[in-house]
Amino acid sequence: MPATEHIPAQPTELRLSEAGRKLHVIWADERSCAFDAAWLRSHCRCSECTSAARAGRVTEVAPDISLADVVPYGPAAVNLHFSDGHRRGIFPFAYLATLSQDVQASGSLHSQL
Ligand SMILES: [Zn+2]
Repeated sequence: MPATEHIPAQPTELRLSEAGRKLHVIWADERSCAFDAAWLRSHCRCSECTSAARAGRVTEVAPDISLADVVPYGPAAVNLHFSDGHRRGIFPFAYLATLSQDVQASGSLHSQL
């Protein structure tokens, strides 16, 4: 990746733990945070999920949902494959960085729901 390319929030590592139920993001400044798969699923911003949210429908998220795969999506995003078969969630790193600040500010992964 060319050094001239400016990416505001770039993780150095994405790691799954607890059989895919947690996604650990380690940022370039060595801060790290962990996201629950269920929480990420409910924060999916794909067209399907956002239009459901606009229509007032609540996406059912199984409490034991996990991440089946984490696939790089271009230089600044990642595509998360959930165990419920949902594979459309593209999470830009900048969005994850925003969420991670929210998580730190609130002290809880669940208060944003
Ligand atoms: Zn979605």
